[in-house]
Amino acid sequence: MATENQGEVETYEFQAEINQLMSLIINTFYSNKEIFLRELISNASDALDKIRYQSLTDKSVLEAEPNLEIEIYADKQNKTLTVRDTGVGMTKADLVNNLGTIAKSGTKAFMEALQAGADVSMIGQFGVGFYSAYLVADNVIVRTKHNDDEPYVWESSAGGSFYIKKDHAEPLKRGTAVILHLKDDQTEYLEEKRIRDLVKKHSEFIQYPIKLYVEKEVEKEVEDEEGTEEKKDESEEEAASSSEAKVEDVTEEEENKEKKKKKVKEITHEWQVLNKNKPIWTRKPEEISKEEYNSFYKSLTNDWEEPLAVKHFKVEGQLEFTALLFCPKRAPFDLFEPRKKLNNIRLYVKKVFIMDNCEDIIPEYLNFIKGIVDSEDLPLNISREMLQQNKILKVIKKNIVKKCLEMFSELAENKEDFKTFYEQFSKNIKLAIHEDTQNRQKFADLLRYYSTKSPDEMISLKEYVSRMKEGQDSIYYITGESKQAVENSPFLEKLRRKGYEVLFMVEPIDEYCIQQLKEYDGKKLVCATKEGLKLEETEEEKKEKEEQKKSFEQLCTVIKEILGDKVEKVIVSERLAESPCILVTGEFGWSANMERIMKAQALRDSSLAMYMSSRKTMEINPNNAIMQELRRRVEADKSDKTVKDLVNLLFDTALLTSGFSLDDPNVFASRIHRMIKLGLSIDEDEATEKMEEDLPPLETEQEGTSAMEEVD
Ligand code: ADP
Ligand code: MG
Repeated sequence: MATENQGEVETYEFQAEINQLMSLIINTFYSNKEIFLRELISNASDALDKIRYQSLTDKSVLEAEPNLEIEIYADKQNKTLTVRDTGVGMTKADLVNNLGTIAKSGTKAFMEALQAGADVSMIGQFGVGFYSAYLVADNVIVRTKHNDDEPYVWESSAGGSFYIKKDHAEPLKRGTAVILHLKDDQTEYLEEKRIRDLVKKHSEFIQYPIKLYVEKEVEKEVEDEEGTEEKKDESEEEAASSSEAKVEDVTEEEENKEKKKKKVKEITHEWQVLNKNKPIWTRKPEEISKEEYNSFYKSLTNDWEEPLAVKHFKVEGQLEFTALLFCPKRAPFDLFEPRKKLNNIRLYVKKVFIMDNCEDIIPEYLNFIKGIVDSEDLPLNISREMLQQNKILKVIKKNIVKKCLEMFSELAENKEDFKTFYEQFSKNIKLAIHEDTQNRQKFADLLRYYSTKSPDEMISLKEYVSRMKEGQDSIYYITGESKQAVENSPFLEKLRRKGYEVLFMVEPIDEYCIQQLKEYDGKKLVCATKEGLKLEETEEEKKEKEEQKKSFEQLCTVIKEILGDKVEKVIVSERLAESPCILVTGEFGWSANMERIMKAQALRDSSLAMYMSSRKTMEINPNNAIMQELRRRVEADKSDKTVKDLVNLLFDTALLTSGFSLDDPNVFASRIHRMIKLGLSIDEDEATEKMEEDLPPLETEQEGTSAMEEVD
């Protein structure tokens, strides 16, 4: 076409990333090339869905071409394979945009995935399935006709550009034909058996007839002597019926005649439907095999792996619908991309496809669930806008959530499967707890955490509760950056001693989830790093504590004076067993971990940070030797100079061990250095002088103030 000099051929450059993708597809060795056919059929099916949906409100869109089907045509002479559909087609602008100039987010993501070792068969999931045509073809032509535009042809042999011109050949009435000029070593895709097997394998559940142009060898009987032809079809049914009809009429004479007939072979052609397109969900679950579900799932989602779980059910009563839901094995690459508000449920009404990505049919936190919903009650001509307020849809949604919960708890019965599930979708579960007030407790059953008593295997809240110590009435947890960071936290000292298990919540979303989940099974969830941690204690312990409180009162006051606004107050701790001190946050404000998360989200409103950021209480450990020594010094001399330095240092280290970040690590480092010098008995003034001698004289630093002296 490019060489056809008609003056009307327009040349376009592929967008850079798409061009890169095409080179990768062409030049890299992939053995799994066959998936190209699935991708083209899937596009054809999407295009048919679109026109069928339009026709629900406007019958006239089908006028030009009433049939909705897919045809596959293999031309061995010219080595071309054509996949044609009578779908919606593409306007010229569609051709330019969809096939070459506008990259999708998946373009780059798919290349990265490939480079990371992903299989090329994943291509459909990234929304660039069309280009898989270049796995087997070195030249691709797309002829298309949209109701709103003239017929156009697109052509490209890759290499950076594509061409578009008006279609002058006998135009399609509506729809698209993708013509692949197969590479010399890919002609296997012209073989009928290969195509048949591929359609069966990847596209069996496509909702439209997929027809293949097949060659048939027909045996014909020719009368040997007279040469008169007797038309007879050998296809089984007709053969049966015609022989039946004959029985009465056969005379002896005719029988003799027949003996003289001879058989000749003749080649005929016909379109044969390759797929049974009875929707799988309309069948009874007990009659559907696992393989059928799996293959339906694959054709629905383009996933190359089998689903982790299936839920097929029918709801009857005041409202009737069928649903077939799948939980995949992996989260999609863009599960939490903020712009992507879609989900993966296809909505049907009375077996007619209505729309993809039906919002409002499943909550956002379940956006990884794939499947179909077929309603008997919704009107066929329902639009997206109408759906938003639709009461029926609300009921459907409620039922879907219920069934998904069922599916998840069934998954939980198998440890391995649930592990896979939880690794991929724990964020969704936590989001559900944050958002779904009604089902919060049920989703909480699905939570799993490592804990002080189970550092290598996650446990459920149920397990936690079942092994709570006698007298323990709360569920304890600690939040932080990682398991390692919280495992040895000083906050856990007393809890460990008492034998209380503490859950490790180390994902950012845990902070949000736990804000909503205040209780489980009637037990309060208590954060080990926040104020108000009350551990049950004996009368004796209480008495001892009172005494300690009194004897450390003065030290607390002095520390508060030294630290000033850095802390809200200083008190004697109940949760420390070893460490000298820690910083706890208010019960209702942010935890140290939350403060870290919020700081990391640079775009946050800083006034919120001021308001919410943790007001810290310092808790000191009366049984710790450092604290006891400090108390002694303060009692001996209220204005002991070393105390100030030590308290500041203790505060900074407490920030670190309590999960906060240091505002100024340099000041902290200087303090540590000073302590080291003290330990090494280096005289501070001497050291400073020495340092200055070593440094070349600086004109701007005439006063000679050293960095050391600036500290504090
Ligand atoms: P996806 O199908 O995920 O959108 P593809 O790369 O397979 O990605 O297709 C890109 C786009 O090209 C489609 O979204 C569609 O707009 C258009 N397209 C491809 N094939 C057809 C077809 N047979 N009929 C109409 N449009 C098509
Ligand atoms: Mg596609």
